[in-house]
Amino acid sequence: MAAMIRRLAKRVRGGGRLRDVVLESLKTIENTDGDEAPVVCRTSEEMAEADSLEWRELSASMLSLGLEKSYIDQIQLIEKRSCESIAGAADEDSGRRRIFDLFAGTPATAVTGIAIAHLNDRLEDITGSAEADTYLRVLRAELRKLPEDVQRALVAAVSSRPVHAFIRRFAVDDVLREADETEQRLKRHGDHLPLIGVTLAVKDLFAFGATTAASRILADYVAPEDYVATAVANLRRFGAILVGKTNLDEFALGSSSESSAFWPAPRNPLDAARVPGGSSGGSAAAVRSGMATAAIGSDTAGSIRLPASYCGCVGVKPTYGLVSRFGLFALASSLDCVGPIAMSVEDAAILLGCLVGEGPDGLDQTQRRSPAQRTSSSCPSEDLYAGELRDQVALAESLRGLTIGVPIEYFLDFDLDERDEAAELEERSRQLGDIDFSELAARRDRRHLTGTVIGAFFDWLHQSAHLRLDDETIEPLWQQFQVTSTFEQDSAAPLDKLRRCASYWDRFPQLLRWLRTEFGVELRLVSLPHTSLSIPAYFIISRYELASNLHRYDGLKYGRAAKESLHGSYHFEAAARRMASLGTQPKQRILMGIHALQQANHETLVMRAQRARYLIREDFTRVFSAGIDLLLAPTVNTVAPYFGGFSDTVAQQQMDQFSVPADHAGIPAISVPFYRTLDESTPLVFPDLARPLYQSVQVIAPEFEEGRMFRLASVIERWHSLYGDTAS
Ligand code: GLN
Repeated sequence: MAAMIRRLAKRVRGGGRLRDVVLESLKTIENTDGDEAPVVCRTSEEMAEADSLEWRELSASMLSLGLEKSYIDQIQLIEKRSCESIAGAADEDSGRRRIFDLFAGTPATAVTGIAIAHLNDRLEDITGSAEADTYLRVLRAELRKLPEDVQRALVAAVSSRPVHAFIRRFAVDDVLREADETEQRLKRHGDHLPLIGVTLAVKDLFAFGATTAASRILADYVAPEDYVATAVANLRRFGAILVGKTNLDEFALGSSSESSAFWPAPRNPLDAARVPGGSSGGSAAAVRSGMATAAIGSDTAGSIRLPASYCGCVGVKPTYGLVSRFGLFALASSLDCVGPIAMSVEDAAILLGCLVGEGPDGLDQTQRRSPAQRTSSSCPSEDLYAGELRDQVALAESLRGLTIGVPIEYFLDFDLDERDEAAELEERSRQLGDIDFSELAARRDRRHLTGTVIGAFFDWLHQSAHLRLDDETIEPLWQQFQVTSTFEQDSAAPLDKLRRCASYWDRFPQLLRWLRTEFGVELRLVSLPHTSLSIPAYFIISRYELASNLHRYDGLKYGRAAKESLHGSYHFEAAARRMASLGTQPKQRILMGIHALQQANHETLVMRAQRARYLIREDFTRVFSAGIDLLLAPTVNTVAPYFGGFSDTVAQQQMDQFSVPADHAGIPAISVPFYRTLDESTPLVFPDLARPLYQSVQVIAPEFEEGRMFRLASVIERWHSLYGDTAS
């Protein structure tokens, strides 16, 4: 994890040409991101295009690994036959359409890629949907009949495909022209440019030129020239050069980036068979693969920290409101935060310092000032992070006297039974100190509440089959309801895949001991008893805020126009256009949100979710005012999953269980890789083909205490460079 921003600035200030620095990123993009940009994949024609793009890439990747053409043809035939043989399909095309639906918007050839990736593990239950699992199993069985060396080459080929971080890469000439202009600003006019030399990738949810939110409904939308997100404007003002807009989950709805309407969805540069996480998956993938020095994303429930963790980057969700949201397309306005993704804590801190700056028109209505900023006139980046931390003596000093809390709720499996839970709590306490065991009783009550909130909600989904909604909408809702009912009663099934790697448990206490012995920090186990309410509360709040925020995309004012006009009423026309142009995620969530907002559900859903959110925030306030300076916890409890591992989106939502509490509370959190390891969660068929992945921890701080948060984060980064690698 090398700090790059200061080094790059030095290089340009020392006489290096900015265009040479920028060209290095552009070269990496050319070699890493794929020859073709992702295409919108919703209608039959678009799907066919996405399918052939996937196929071209898959075969190119196989060819480059020396696989004979005859085997590639054989694999293509297996794929064709599988499409034809899918239950109820009349021909190959309708089979492809069915696969697309079964795998939540993934084209059939990409599903073959998923099956190939799964040749390398023994996962039986793959997607959480029985029909999709059966299909993958049959496909895998066919592929397994190929000679073993061919199978090995297939697995390697899928893992080394292009990354596809970008929806849109900027033309080389435009980027170089901007580099020349920026260089002039530095050299001729002496502008203060802390980001000189930085290439920047921007999540395609920020208004800047063509902006899609990874949705078909905005595939042709171009933001007016004077409508530029303040975050983007600030980073450019300080010298960053934009190289492109990155792919994401459609309207940021997801944790894997697979819900994007643009395929191929971004892939994890560490292993292209795996997702980069979401929703800011393209941003993290671009930084990890060196296509950009830095990126920006948005975090509503973990969408910066989660992909940062899966790709082995640093990701920051600042205090709510510290960075302007102007120009960020809203998911849930009371939770959305803008923040940086970078390869080091220092870089992330410098970027955040530049992001907090006021926009061209001063502070906008989405922005708040920290108490320190209100009284200080210095550059915000200097407020947030002192450069002398690179000095080891200062590093050690920086933590002296701090008390770090470890929240016990982040270290329990979501679905442990009471006996295991007690045993585990006892064991952990022996290691770390005191714990309030009365907390156990409270936990049981909370489970009940969790069940009730989600239960009431899904009762409605069940009943909604009687409403006048068409089959295309009802069917996935109904399926989701069924999965979720099982998930409530028998949590083992889909949540099993969320089991964290065993070695995380060994490593984390090592890190804690090191912090205590080397830096003299005090460690305390603390309880944040309402943590388990975070997902249910988010489930409700994010849906109803999304429903009103997405209301503007009707396909008439904004959004892609339908091919032929339906000559109906506004409502009929807008409904038809939304139906055709929005993916499953926004459709389902809008329905859920509108349901929650009905008068009859105000008490059971909205008020309860708001109350839960208040309790979560109170938990943090209580520990921070009882002498805890910072909290240290996992960011997420797995390494990056394979593509197709989570077509059940309700289970996928559980990935946010550790990240969303800080969003509810509006407090800052940073995710830092602390451990590089092989995936130990599944036994592999070809273990030598496994690629090292990352696990991360997050530091959570009180409101506006980003500086303190960065201090601990850089110490963890140091631990990572000393001890955090067991993969090689
Ligand atoms: N996983 C969250 C969701 O699906 C991510 C939202 C976010 O942080 N943008 O809603």
